Amino acid sequence: MIFDVLTLFPEVIESYCNVSIMKRAKESAVIKVNTINPRDFTLDKHKKVDDTPYGGGAGMVLAPQPYVDAYESVLKLDKSITVMLSPQGEPLCDSIVNDLAKYDQIIMLCGHYEGFDERIREIIKPREISIGDFVLTGGELPALCLIDAVSRKIEGTLGKIESAHDDSFFNGLLEYPHYTKPRDYRGYKVPEVLLNGNHKEIAEFRFNEQLKRTKNRRPDLYQNYINNQK
Ligand code: SAM
Repeated sequence: MIFDVLTLFPEVIESYCNVSIMKRAKESAVIKVNTINPRDFTLDKHKKVDDTPYGGGAGMVLAPQPYVDAYESVLKLDKSITVMLSPQGEPLCDSIVNDLAKYDQIIMLCGHYEGFDERIREIIKPREISIGDFVLTGGELPALCLIDAVSRKIEGTLGKIESAHDDSFFNGLLEYPHYTKPRDYRGYKVPEVLLNGNHKEIAEFRFNEQLKRTKNRRPDLYQNYINNQK
């Protein structure tokens, strides 16, 4: 999977992708993360990428020319999708992540300041994705959320892809609770069933915990799960 990230702050993307699991995924060529800085494409003699809004108002708007030229410089694969990170987009969820993981290339547009000149949307026609109903200063954290979540779905990123199959949302439910050593910590004990080596009982215990947790914490997910079983 190739991630091409258009950003005014490439160091944010690079620093996150150069540690831990993302770093290993890059080193083993499971993913490739490129950054493209629209500032390198601006035709403005002062290297400006933004300007004041027509109609007035606070903040600076990202100008179309540097973004569209930067976008057009990216070599597009056949199975490629373009995503604009935006609080006005579809809320990100596991099924969108699964959908994006089917592509070979995701080109991402990160905004900043007051956001994008509308013509960037009109010309590029990206899929707009939001990471939640709140506003951040820039699209870099949302882009990293996407890179991270999509990478976990690709064979080779995690030690065992099956570990993602137990994760929350995979079967429509939240994951069961985990425990490690010691068996007793400050009087809080690991449930007996996890210690007896009976795989059937352990699986039953975990599934019941998934149901209980999901019902308590996310009644919306629980209801969907129950409806899908009918
Ligand atoms: N004025 C815009 C609005 O109200 O819709 C918000 C602009 S925001 C300050 C600057 C940039 O941060 C956006 O262009 C987008 O790339 C990114 N951003 C902020 N919040 C986001 C969110 N919840 N999801 C995805 N991207 C977000």
